[in-house]
Amino acid sequence: MRCTRCEMVYLARSLDNSALTADHAWEKTHAKENERRRKHLIYRIDQATRFRLRFGNQADKSWVRQAIATPGNVLDVGCGSSCRVAPGIVPFGIEVSEGLAKMAEPKYRAAGGRIVVAPAEQGLAQFEDNFFSAAVLRSYLEHELKPREVLAQLRRKLKAGGIALVKVPDFGSVGRHVMGAKWCGFRYPDHLNYFTEATLAGLAKANGFRLERQNLLPRLNDNLYAKLVRL
Ligand SMILES: [Zn+2]
Repeated sequence: MRCTRCEMVYLARSLDNSALTADHAWEKTHAKENERRRKHLIYRIDQATRFRLRFGNQADKSWVRQAIATPGNVLDVGCGSSCRVAPGIVPFGIEVSEGLAKMAEPKYRAAGGRIVVAPAEQGLAQFEDNFFSAAVLRSYLEHELKPREVLAQLRRKLKAGGIALVKVPDFGSVGRHVMGAKWCGFRYPDHLNYFTEATLAGLAKANGFRLERQNLLPRLNDNLYAKLVRL
């Protein structure tokens, strides 16, 4: 569906969080999906030419480095089994999948932080306001049933001037237009939201953030990297 007012594209009939946690956990469905995709020639061409994504784009690593270069409490929303640790930061995570959270927990504990097993909105509610200096929302916001509520809640939990680093598939990308239905950003039923730079900027603005695009050139990469600055 595409909203006629704000142009936001989203899955009209999405599963609720409990179904996403149990039957459609990301770690289960994405292996199956990759298997299905390998059968298509255009998908193999797409995969074989991934080097093109480096042109005119900031590398994924340097983007994440910004978050862990911000001293203080750093939150990873939808952290999966990973934990980013760096000097001067205390890592926190929110993860809806119990299995993945269990794998990540020792790493958070060892670095002085913790991981909360919950959907993002409920997970955020467990932290004090103005607690975080930065948040990482990497390949997460496209899965979120309530992106608006989560951003509003996240704004309260971030300090003034805090940042949220967002990586989402770019629905406005050249790749989506070329690949059509076989574009890597389509994941059914896991991906609920299909952001463009404009719709993500609109969502950010409505919730008290300013969006700064991190891709040097727009739309060339299948993913949109953005820094949301808390106003
Ligand atoms: Zn709308």
